[in-house]
Amino acid sequence: MDDRQRLWLQQLPKIDELMLLLEGQGVADRVPKPLLKELCRATVEKRRQGIIAGSGGKEEPAPSLTGLAGEITRQIDRLHTRRLRRVVNATGVILHTNLGRAPLSPAARECLLEIGCGYSNLEFDLVRGTRGLRYDHIEELLRLLTGAEDALVVNNNAAAVLLALNSLAQGGEAVVSRGELIEIGGEFRIPEVMEKGGVRLREVGTTNRTRLRDYREAVNPETRLLMKIHTSNFKIVGFTEEVPLRDLVALGRECDLPVLNDLGSGCLIDLDRYGRQREPTVEEVVAAGTDVVTFSGDKLLGGPQAGIILGKKTLLERIKRNPLNRALRIDKLTLAALEGTLIAYLNPRQARSDLRVLKALTETRDEVRVRGKKLLRKLRAAGMKGVDFSLREGTAAAGGGSLPGQEIPTSLVSLTPRSLSSSRLEERLRGLKIPIIARIDGDEILLDMRTVAEEEFVFIVNGLRSIFLQDG
Ligand SMILES: *Cc1c(COP(=O)(O)O)cnc(C)c1O
Repeated sequence: MDDRQRLWLQQLPKIDELMLLLEGQGVADRVPKPLLKELCRATVEKRRQGIIAGSGGKEEPAPSLTGLAGEITRQIDRLHTRRLRRVVNATGVILHTNLGRAPLSPAARECLLEIGCGYSNLEFDLVRGTRGLRYDHIEELLRLLTGAEDALVVNNNAAAVLLALNSLAQGGEAVVSRGELIEIGGEFRIPEVMEKGGVRLREVGTTNRTRLRDYREAVNPETRLLMKIHTSNFKIVGFTEEVPLRDLVALGRECDLPVLNDLGSGCLIDLDRYGRQREPTVEEVVAAGTDVVTFSGDKLLGGPQAGIILGKKTLLERIKRNPLNRALRIDKLTLAALEGTLIAYLNPRQARSDLRVLKALTETRDEVRVRGKKLLRKLRAAGMKGVDFSLREGTAAAGGGSLPGQEIPTSLVSLTPRSLSSSRLEERLRGLKIPIIARIDGDEILLDMRTVAEEEFVFIVNGLRSIFLQDG
């Protein structure tokens, strides 16, 4: 260490001085005093190390008192900034797991705000004036919309599967086809979930072919359940065979065993009417006689994260009585948003216009193109130099472990920056106040119009203006 460094160390502001200045500036009230003190200490310490070691090969002199106060103010500003932020999903992946899957409808949002921010009859029977059940509020809706005898909602579909397995088959065996032993992103693997549920897995068939005979031969006195799992995030093509649900249900009847079908993404409307690939609706699965059906609230249903369990009354009663149900129970915010979502389904046209997931899935190619043209016009009128815009065709995807392999025609607004690389532009778009998450294709950035709503154009136009008007 040389003399200059020693001098700079002596010149470093004292923590008390710094605190006094920040208090004078009114900054101190924005965080608890011990935290402020710690921020001051850590910031001064960092500067002390900087003086001793230099930074980036250069020597680093002592900062001024006001300079340090400014630095701490910025840190406090950052602490007060929300980290969980809305983004524009321009990826074309409709149920994007990393971007929060399904956006809620205006009705669901209203329910969420009103019930979340006030007192409610969550567990209160308003007619009798006595304790009620939180599940009662949406049980009827679920029964009416799906034809199921009984319904229960939990935290998410992973919880629904765990709870159903544990309630119906703990200590015994469940028979599953080898072709359906899936992993859903994260740690959700069917064999492991079964183990946690206290159920022994009895695999039958092969990866590509399983026959009814395979299930029948696996049944023994230890068998508690026949299980079918929707292979929701991949597709096996070629020489394949799976047992139709109806046949499995018939076998269940014959052997006096319940059939559990994990649908993953439960769809309440007929998607093939809108040109999408055929998915059995929840209603059809229930009508097939399936004893218990599980699916997510935030995949094709288009509501909040939740797990929905439908089925026969006697079985649902066992599931409801399981102490695990209390640990996995749905909270009031989710319940409120789910009710708002389900009410929309009473009128399918309403559901298609209010639920963004359904809208994005069912809109025609032309409707999407019209939106693309509108955005293109706005962008071209915004007077940005340094970037060219055009419109082209492409494909979007359902994502979120739904409709695997399905390519959905879409329109893409393409941005070709002149003096920035496309990867740099993509990064700048992510760094905006309202980040825009886009696709890169060579020199171009693609904004997929299937997942962008017209209300979001303003964020795209303003975001791009802030990038290109300042760069020239
Ligand atoms: C997505 C999925 C799950 C898990 O559902 P979450 O709502 O994400 O908990 C379980 N099973 C299948 C078949 C799925 O597709």
